[in-house]
Amino acid sequence: MPAALPEVRATYAIGLRTRFRRITTREGVLVRGDAGWGEVSPFWDYDDAESASWLRAGLEAAEHGWPEPVRDRIPVNVTVPAVGPDDAHATVTRSGGCTTAKVKVAEPGQSLADEQARLEAVRDALGPHGAVRIDANAAWDLETALDRLAHLDRAAGGLEYAEQPCADVADLAALRRRTGVPIAADESVRRADDPLAVRRAEAADVVVLKVQPLGGVRACLRLAADIGLPVVVSSALETSVGIAAGVALAAALPELPHACGLATVDLLTRDAVPEPLLPRDGALPVRRPEPTDADLTAVAAGDDVAERWSRRLAGMGAHLAATR
Ligand SMILES: [Mg+2]
Repeated sequence: MPAALPEVRATYAIGLRTRFRRITTREGVLVRGDAGWGEVSPFWDYDDAESASWLRAGLEAAEHGWPEPVRDRIPVNVTVPAVGPDDAHATVTRSGGCTTAKVKVAEPGQSLADEQARLEAVRDALGPHGAVRIDANAAWDLETALDRLAHLDRAAGGLEYAEQPCADVADLAALRRRTGVPIAADESVRRADDPLAVRRAEAADVVVLKVQPLGGVRACLRLAADIGLPVVVSSALETSVGIAAGVALAAALPELPHACGLATVDLLTRDAVPEPLLPRDGALPVRRPEPTDADLTAVAAGDDVAERWSRRLAGMGAHLAATR
């Protein structure tokens, strides 16, 4: 039996201001159901099986909506891509009052000195009371991570945590025993067959949860309860339609001790809604913005891209139907 696919209202293609995850254009579909708008935007390097969770999240948004919020504002971090120190400084200063910065490190072709300069600039822009976290996207082996964390912790004037410094859960656990820098798990939860392995191995102090890769707000709430560690909700570089699902998760979590990584709409050259979910005084409001027809026209992808996504949705839908 084929899965019921939501009504696709737009296939979008939106430029990124800075190359991210080695892509320069973000693509996805915006769907609409009885409960509202949803976004389905898996990256192209994910196959149908992995992308099915992204479809499940979009279906939840469009057909069921989300649990009731327990807070009305979500503190967020500014994201600093792998840019030079001047750009990094400016990114923090014009972040809408964010007092936490997440800095990308381990970019191919860049040196330790590049990373130190970026972190020093970020600390300078935030002031002594801000929080600085780094994300290495699983790039380092254990020994490299130990060495880098010592240098980068010093350059940052203290790190709040290091996100996914190594790929393996066993390496994260070993690293955590040997460094004073708290460890956050992202890929080890989001792309793992067994997301609870992180807890069993005592491999992390914090987990990063993303709504689309993990199959929706409710699935993330269940996972958060099972893992039992503080959660940082992060985006998958969505438009404000997808960000709203992350906001809904952050708003529904019983505790929210850290700033979330949901202030990423500014990394896009434009949004799919008239009033983007951008931070003010370092926080996002808990609301659900809706695209207008003019927005949908402005972000619409060409016919070839739309055709590609239509085939892709069918593939995801078939996978979802088979696993239900
Ligand atoms: Mg990450």
